[in-house]
Amino acid sequence: MARQWKWGENPDKLNKVELQKLEQDGLDIIDEIVNVYAVNGFESIPEEKFSLFKWAGVYQQKPKKDGYFMMRIRIPGGVLTSEQARVLAQLGQEYGRGLIDVTTRQAVQYHWLRIEHFPDIFRRLGEVGLHSYEACGDCPRTIVGNPLAGIDANELIDTRPIVKALEKEFLLNRDFSNLPRKYKMSISSSIYNPANAQINDLSFTPAVKEIDGEEVVGFHVWVGGGLSNRPHLAKQLDIFVRPEQVVDVAVGITTVFRDYGYREKRHRARLKFLVADWGPEKFLEVLTGIIGPYPKRGEDKIADWNAGYFTGVHPQKQEGYSYVGLNIPIGRTSAEEFFQLADLADQYGSGSLRTVNTQNIIISDVPNEKVEKLLQEPLLKRLSPRPKAFEGHAVSCTGVEFCNLALTETKGLMKRVVEYLDEHVELDTPIRLHINGCPNSCGQQQIADIGLMGGKMKTANGMQEAYTISVGGHLYGEGEFNTQLKGRVLANDVAPVLKELVVFFKENKQEGENFTRF
Ligand code: SF4
Repeated sequence: MARQWKWGENPDKLNKVELQKLEQDGLDIIDEIVNVYAVNGFESIPEEKFSLFKWAGVYQQKPKKDGYFMMRIRIPGGVLTSEQARVLAQLGQEYGRGLIDVTTRQAVQYHWLRIEHFPDIFRRLGEVGLHSYEACGDCPRTIVGNPLAGIDANELIDTRPIVKALEKEFLLNRDFSNLPRKYKMSISSSIYNPANAQINDLSFTPAVKEIDGEEVVGFHVWVGGGLSNRPHLAKQLDIFVRPEQVVDVAVGITTVFRDYGYREKRHRARLKFLVADWGPEKFLEVLTGIIGPYPKRGEDKIADWNAGYFTGVHPQKQEGYSYVGLNIPIGRTSAEEFFQLADLADQYGSGSLRTVNTQNIIISDVPNEKVEKLLQEPLLKRLSPRPKAFEGHAVSCTGVEFCNLALTETKGLMKRVVEYLDEHVELDTPIRLHINGCPNSCGQQQIADIGLMGGKMKTANGMQEAYTISVGGHLYGEGEFNTQLKGRVLANDVAPVLKELVVFFKENKQEGENFTRF
């Protein structure tokens, strides 16, 4: 019997996932995979166990009967060493048909894995400090951070040690392995909010406050953000948190979610619903009962929003060094390219790479005198530091190719759309395009300048894949989700319809206006 927590909603009406989690903690599945199912094969896995595989970071790939799996690897804050990148490349090459996707939470995903592969993958990831555990499931997922942490001239403090401390506290911690639903944290001290604070369950953003006559650098705290098909923007709590208090506050907030979060209906179980019902004041009152009183909010230090685009060559806060942001087209790369990235990071930088929530990658710590030579490397022809405008601002979820929940294809369509737009429209300001293959919003379409969401449409030729179009999403200030336009567009019509939309923008915008502020 798994450990039981107090339930916030009607305890007699727990949904069936909750009942299963009462029987067995999701983390138990890791040992079962290694010791039972990997030994006895795919056919030996009882159907009801598959839903627990998420705690190992694993989903069944489409079609389920074929016995292939997708695995997500957490990369806390997106900080990756060349040694880790090589292991990711080796495993992708040996087991994942050479395919590696970078996700919108700075993680990477493999496809085509078989149950027999898992023990070796878990072991080899663990040897370099990487894990797939709890990258999925009703638990604390990959912790998102500022991909420039430690090298960023625009951050107040280096958040890498805090990301590490959070990862240490939450990963494989059975106090928090049975939350009502998935739980996403982010932390950044950049004034440009690159970790998208408003769309996480819990976020820490930069702030300062005068305490006892001294200016203290710390964080403000946001709770209850999240996308999916009922998106909510997070709300700020009226507290100021010092860097050394972040873990305590995160533990307190996660405890509130665990003990008071809704467990009756799956679609109302995310923290955002509790925060929406309680409001930030009541939430803080309950939190204070757990962690004690904290100082009130100080001065907010978010100045603007960088949606996570760092392509090109940029100076680091360390004088004489630059980071080079590379575009991974539609977030899909390969084991071969990951090997090369690791080599380039060693050859030109300090062996450090950063994954970005826009599904791109950064090579950091490049001495300025080596930058020109790095830019000549053949790999940078495809993973370009200067991508075309639309290709360089396109985000896509996995879609029907591998995802069991998908209603439509995504990456292939997005590739065709951006190629078409780059060929037909020239713009002086980028437009961010995001696509989801279903309302779950792994592609974060609600915060896009132009968001596409896949669904089905009845036509004279039967049901066909079609997409809604939404415009004007952003996370400037408190943030705003985009607005859905009327109707749906068939896959083949998406590119020409978006061209019309973009040309209208181009012809009517004032100088200096971007799509969001149009
Ligand atoms: Fe799958 Fe939907 Fe997520 Fe896309 S948004 S990866 S289709 S669940």
